[in-house]
Amino acid sequence: MPPASRDLVGRALSPFPQWPGDARLALSFVVNVEEGAEMSLASGDERNEAVYEVNREVVGAPDLCMESHFAYGARVGIWRVMDAFDAHGFKATFSSCGRCIAATPSLAAEPARRGHEISAHGWRWESHAGMEEARERAVIAATVAAIEKACGQRPVGWHTKSSASVNTRRLLMEEGGFLYDSDCYDDDVPRMHQAAPRPHVILPYAFDTNDMRFGPGGGFVQARDFSEYCIRAIERLLKEGASAPKMLSIGLHLRFIGRPARIGGLEAILEHVAKRSGIWVARRRDIAAHWATLV
Ligand SMILES: [Zn+2]
Repeated sequence: MPPASRDLVGRALSPFPQWPGDARLALSFVVNVEEGAEMSLASGDERNEAVYEVNREVVGAPDLCMESHFAYGARVGIWRVMDAFDAHGFKATFSSCGRCIAATPSLAAEPARRGHEISAHGWRWESHAGMEEARERAVIAATVAAIEKACGQRPVGWHTKSSASVNTRRLLMEEGGFLYDSDCYDDDVPRMHQAAPRPHVILPYAFDTNDMRFGPGGGFVQARDFSEYCIRAIERLLKEGASAPKMLSIGLHLRFIGRPARIGGLEAILEHVAKRSGIWVARRRDIAAHWATLV
């Protein structure tokens, strides 16, 4: 039997949203900021990160090649990504790892200055599955503190890399200050967390409309592979959204989409969206706040 916490019923329990301006689709761009939070022996971690432009783990010694690949996102990619959003005045959610922001506060301060949301993406770039509870509590608190210090505002959103633990959502409640989390892949609309003592919204995220598929084995090669795939999802949900409004997340990574041959994929999506009516491009905190007042 699956655990009782699983809900495989779906839309029967979800109200259909009324987005601002009667939009048919709420569109959330999530920019993952992970550079410096990847596993690294040189940073005192138990192993090196194994996933970047290639899948290869250097064992027993610092991996300078992997470090340098991640650094590209922070040094170069972030500027291309921010400029692409600025060209249309669209605001995104920068989902940021605490260790990354503690070491390089400008990676949160500059997007915040441009009007983007800074949300929390763990301390290190790691799964929380099986993490000991006291450690996970400390990880959440440290991530919140690093972001608050860098941009003067607590994050209200959380997303765990890969799998959350069975305790994550409860620990977010205990930490306080959170309005939503994105540890959810099972719907095209948000929902309220029923067991929460105060309003907490669960926003769906996606691994398919995501530039991580430029990575090894992911299937995206050319910039248009990404833009065509995402535009297909946008158009499908716009159609369905005429009767039942929808939400879509598009995931981005500075070190992937920020490469010169790939940034055009994001630009093509933004240009398409700018010409289309019925789309509410919003930060996740705005979608969550809107949803929390609806239901
Ligand atoms: Zn991520």
